[in-house]
Amino acid sequence: MHVNQWDVALKIHELNETGSQEFKSAKYLTGILKSRGFKIIEKYAGIPTAFRAEKVMGKGGPTIAFLAEYDALPGIGHACGHNLIAASALFSAIRSTEKVQNAKIVVIGTPDEEGSGEFSGSKILMANKGIFDDVDIVLGSHPGDSWDVGRQSLAVQDFEVTFLGIASHEAADPDKGRSALDAAILTYTGVNMMRQHVRRDYNVVIHGIIKEGGTASNVTPEKAVLVYGIRSSNIQYHGELVERFRKIAEGCASATDTVCTIREIGPLFTTTKIVPTLSNFIRDRLVERGARCPPLEETFSKQPGGSTDFANVSQIRPALELDFQIADEGTPWHSHVSLEAAISPRAKKTLDLVIEVLSDTAKEFAVDKDFREKIRHDFIGNALS
Ligand SMILES: [Zn+2]
Repeated sequence: MHVNQWDVALKIHELNETGSQEFKSAKYLTGILKSRGFKIIEKYAGIPTAFRAEKVMGKGGPTIAFLAEYDALPGIGHACGHNLIAASALFSAIRSTEKVQNAKIVVIGTPDEEGSGEFSGSKILMANKGIFDDVDIVLGSHPGDSWDVGRQSLAVQDFEVTFLGIASHEAADPDKGRSALDAAILTYTGVNMMRQHVRRDYNVVIHGIIKEGGTASNVTPEKAVLVYGIRSSNIQYHGELVERFRKIAEGCASATDTVCTIREIGPLFTTTKIVPTLSNFIRDRLVERGARCPPLEETFSKQPGGSTDFANVSQIRPALELDFQIADEGTPWHSHVSLEAAISPRAKKTLDLVIEVLSDTAKEFAVDKDFREKIRHDFIGNALS
């Protein structure tokens, strides 16, 4: 007997595998797609838990890709609801094969969205390898506490800053020591000062910790390490912030007679590019079916709170990640409440709706040349970003 979308949602929730370790989940998902006649590539793009599945319908035609995620959060489990993303991607694709006559339907398994493992931000690694080059449209989904068809996301880059000084006895030979911790504290203070002098409309968020700050109070700390994340809703401005951040760290190293190295951790997550024609089409279908989804303008004006590797895909191909509501507005995400919401009766009902709407979108894209042309036109010249 064929498994259905809800079986998949429950199974992935139960498998509970964290980023880059989703071996059983990937095997389970590709097994289902294979049984439905999809051709499978495992370990796709050189990533052990990634995959690609495709099925050519009729004479072929536009290539429509659904992105699946299936990583859990360390410690708490599927509290981001990626079990539902996996189910939605698989069954939107399967449903599309029932609705579409001429098209290529693709599911791409994209591991480690949460950034806990080696292949963190896998969509970016995949995009850089050109795997979206033959794809005409990318559709994804994400559960949350509201319906949205085009939320902004924040560009983010993480950094590790290492300061090296000189160890020395803090009482007997203080003049010979150079404190790496002093450089780190100065930098931390300098970054705090920078926060006052940034644009308020570009949603600047800067968060940092002192990861290492010495080993004993009587030894001048010869090594100190800071870890920072720098975010903004404007990608150009994000670049300016990064430059100022670097200057602060380098200046503080110079002021304390230490040296610093600044290392980027993981890839740059960009902002999201929104294609209005696509957003509006999906919103109309949702509203027709009774979902309380706000218009794009309302969604787009909301303050963005997070970052996602889906954003990088949206910069190179027309794409939409549909946010679907499985919990009351204001429900904290990555929490025990969202962990339960991801397998609730409400999620089950919503999942069915998401699959119908995304497969309807695939159908429209496959059959309507005007729709494709409008999306292409929006993507090139009329996108919100
Ligand atoms: Zn998530």
